Amino acid sequence: EINVINSKTKELVELDKRHFIHPTSAPKAAAEDGPSIIFSEGNGIYVNNMDGESYIDGMSMLWNVNIGHGQKELAEAANEQMTKIAYSSAFKGFSNEPAIKLAEKLASLAPGDLNAVFFTSGGSESNDTAFKLSRFYWKLKGKAEKKKIIGMQSGYHGVTQAAQSATGIPATHEFAGSSVEGFYHATPHLTNCELGDKNDPNYENSIRALIEKEGADTVAAVIIEPVQGAGGVNMPPEGYLEAVRKLCDEFNILFIADEVICGFGRTGKMFGIENWNVQPDFMSIAKGITSGYSQLGGVMLSDEIRDTIVNYDGVMAHGFTYSGHPTACAVALKNIEIIERDGLVENTKEMEKEMQKGLAYLEEKHDIVRNCRTLGLLAAFEVYNPETGEHLDPSLQAAATIVDECFDRKLILRHIGDFRVAIAPPLVISKQEIEKMIQIIDESITAFK
Ligand code: PLP
Repeated sequence: EINVINSKTKELVELDKRHFIHPTSAPKAAAEDGPSIIFSEGNGIYVNNMDGESYIDGMSMLWNVNIGHGQKELAEAANEQMTKIAYSSAFKGFSNEPAIKLAEKLASLAPGDLNAVFFTSGGSESNDTAFKLSRFYWKLKGKAEKKKIIGMQSGYHGVTQAAQSATGIPATHEFAGSSVEGFYHATPHLTNCELGDKNDPNYENSIRALIEKEGADTVAAVIIEPVQGAGGVNMPPEGYLEAVRKLCDEFNILFIADEVICGFGRTGKMFGIENWNVQPDFMSIAKGITSGYSQLGGVMLSDEIRDTIVNYDGVMAHGFTYSGHPTACAVALKNIEIIERDGLVENTKEMEKEMQKGLAYLEEKHDIVRNCRTLGLLAAFEVYNPETGEHLDPSLQAAATIVDECFDRKLILRHIGDFRVAIAPPLVISKQEIEKMIQIIDESITAFK
């Protein structure tokens, strides 16, 4: 709840409580308490509230403001495009320069032969599109029965019905009972099982076992985040993604890499999958493509899929009003230009070391901190009971309390479930700024204990 407030903020809080249904929030608390912060400005890793108080955005908001806040060049790019023509359709023979140039730019950046893109407005739409295009592809190949999609437990792919059905987080399924059929969830990271080890006690939970049970001729695609984000910042063990790729080849199943969080520098490579020797058939992108300055997503397609689809002579009845939105694409082009010009992927790789150092310090100092992991600027730690070696009791709400303590100290982080704290600052962050974040987390853990 906001306590120190000027009269304008107070008025906005009341209007918010009355009229604004917030996404992924507790409706009762939102309606009764109102927002905990109303953002008004941003600059680099910092954001201000309405009273001009400055916070560190330790999560790049929703893991998306990769180039940091307040980058005027993006505003100028949007202004320039909006002044010329803000929006034009991309349906049936219509096109526009920023979308064409962005498609070409993405093709030049994406790994391997992902050389074509279908534009959307965000991550969920990108994943729904990847599912539909994978089914379409198989239909064109004369295998219309290949329709099922396999996702991972703890995988997060969005909230539209198909993306939500692919998501392996039970709370999203319970909401409004809205999962659709044809989606399955395997336990992630069972490398041995995916390589075929049937003696592994977890075998039946593997992708391989699911494919065998359902029949490879009914499975269209597997969808995987290179690093699971919203499900806990879970790093794949060595060899895992390669094993899944091999498995997909063995059974003629498409590999969809969900790069919505990992893409555009977050992991210290332009795309997360480039940390491994794996070539996806589809790659879903969003978030960091514009650093949140405009709403844009897309699915990238391999040459084989693209060539198969463009041989189809009918109408592909799938497209969003905002597919190829000129202003969003102009913003994305400028955003990517800044990522490259300012060496933000390289900075992320550099800062990875500082983040690792900082988390190692916290683990050394606080006996409740364990299981720290960092790839680029995608990091997390967990809270344990040092006596039992188990996670701290959920009733202690340790992760949420530490995040609240950080917020009181003007650092925005996010807890995932009862015992994980995620950290994903903008890629422009400096060594000193990481040290400042670690210092605040340090004090916040002490306050919790
Ligand atoms: N995929 C991943 C990996 C995500 O993290 C998200 C959002 O957090 C999505 C998809 C959904 O994206 P959007 O919220 O833009 O629909």
